[in-house]
Amino acid sequence: MPIACTHLDQIKEVKPSAKGCEECLKTGDTWVHLRLCRICGHVGCCDSSKNKHATKHFHATKHPVMQSFEPGEDWFWCYVDEVMFELG
Ligand SMILES: [Zn+2]
Ligand SMILES: [Zn+2]
Ligand SMILES: [Zn+2]
Repeated sequence: MPIACTHLDQIKEVKPSAKGCEECLKTGDTWVHLRLCRICGHVGCCDSSKNKHATKHFHATKHPVMQSFEPGEDWFWCYVDEVMFELG
């Protein structure tokens, strides 16, 4: 099945900005899961976390594609196309 995301050409090999959610680490907050922005390397917390920093990062920067930053998970999510996919 072709991947329905139209932003694949924007995905970059990024260096994660932090080992945890960048903003939560600053404020001493906790998170549930981590998400890695594949445009700039920002690490933010998922929508199950109270601060939802990954989604806030998308709204602030318009960086469309993030990847799960959890061990053993490598799926991607495009905020614009609202599709989940994996790169083989
Ligand atoms: Zn997309
Ligand atoms: Zn956070
Ligand atoms: Zn970003």
